[in-house]
Amino acid sequence: MFALPSASRAIAGRMAVSARVPALGTMHVRNLNLHEYQSQNLMKDWGVSVPKSVVVENVDDVLNACKQIGTPKMVIKTQVHAGGRGKGTLSSGLQGGVHVIDSADRAQELAKQMLGYKLKTKQTQGDGVMVNKLMIAEGVDVVAECYFAILLDRATNGPVMVASAEGGMDIEEVAHSRPDAIFKEFIDINHGPTDAQLENLAKGLNFEGDSKTQSKEVMNNLYKMFIGVDSTQVEINPMCKLSDGRVMCVDAKIGFDDNAEFRQADIFAQRDTAEEDPREVEASKYDLNFVGMDGNIGCMVNGAGLAMATMDIIQLHGGKPANFLDLGGGVTESSVGQAFKILTADPKVKGILVNIFGGIVDCGLVARGIIAAANNLGINIPITIRLKGTNEEEAQKLISNCGLKLTMLEDLDEAAINAVKSA
Ligand code: GDP
Ligand code: MN
Repeated sequence: MFALPSASRAIAGRMAVSARVPALGTMHVRNLNLHEYQSQNLMKDWGVSVPKSVVVENVDDVLNACKQIGTPKMVIKTQVHAGGRGKGTLSSGLQGGVHVIDSADRAQELAKQMLGYKLKTKQTQGDGVMVNKLMIAEGVDVVAECYFAILLDRATNGPVMVASAEGGMDIEEVAHSRPDAIFKEFIDINHGPTDAQLENLAKGLNFEGDSKTQSKEVMNNLYKMFIGVDSTQVEINPMCKLSDGRVMCVDAKIGFDDNAEFRQADIFAQRDTAEEDPREVEASKYDLNFVGMDGNIGCMVNGAGLAMATMDIIQLHGGKPANFLDLGGGVTESSVGQAFKILTADPKVKGILVNIFGGIVDCGLVARGIIAAANNLGINIPITIRLKGTNEEEAQKLISNCGLKLTMLEDLDEAAINAVKSA
């Protein structure tokens, strides 16, 4: 799925191409998004200092949460899967999804204007995302805000630490207008960061004395976490120097490698689907990858490469894809049925193009799945099918003899033209 843009994207985009976060490559990947409070709990487990916090879902719980925090200054923060909250706007009219406060009354007042409203930020789409959770945290006395991230670098085939002394809410602007204020250290994945590298980073971030030692420890522990949890991206903005000399991570965004789901069960169990596209959530239950778009042709494909090619060719012939649904490798008749159900549930879909390459996948099985789905669901939109590879002759026979209005074409151009014309 398209990942939400993050500051690290803007920053990586300003760096050498080599360090760019893959854009198209992530299209078929379901990225796990954690909330800030979940990321902070994880960081705490790895010995990284974060502010004490409590999560609430109801205004009635705010008072109690403030008592638990018990500091004179507190911060109230919307928990959504998007950055830029500080400068965002709520649909209640409230400016800012992050506020520093000095009383529980104020916390309640703000919670009333946050919970149940949508937050719109630079990183959200449409009219924003619904706020269902708030974090109330100890308010720390910040004297400097830095940016620190660990990303994966293509050219060096390994992690890269990216840092800037000018962190905080304007980091995208810094990345854009003063890219030299951002520096990096490439990490040897077999050895982790050297002391000299951590020293360079800490100095570049203007940490001195005990704060410098602490910041090195924070960065080193973040790196251990990055490796230990199969992370693909850790972004801390801001990593703060406090007035008492402590170094603390005040905000966090952590991305995970979906292929590691089997060994990071605890982390993936924290997935909050409330903000995700319900069609995508439904698809993922059947190991299907769904990506929604604006057009009117539903695409059923196998493999991300074929998905791109299919979308390109639809556009070449003047059409627009409504979505694409990637069946992946382990296709069964019933997963084809589920795929059709998801594709046709969208009223915008006026036609379907199936483009499957049968390598491991048996075209006969796909054909039977399509016919069963078309019968069961009573699909009355035009369906164009291109099945190539293993058992395509059987598939052709099944489709010709099924008595349904299915068009099977061998040539991808012809199939795309047919799908565009008939939709
Ligand atoms: P974002 O806007 O979504 O990136 O949300 P952040 O969690 O980064 O919060 C936005 C800004 O609020 C930070 O850049 C800080 O300047 C400020 N902030 C957050 N927590 C604290 C805190 O405990 N104390 C102080 N003084 N400022 C904070
Ligand atoms: Mn931030």
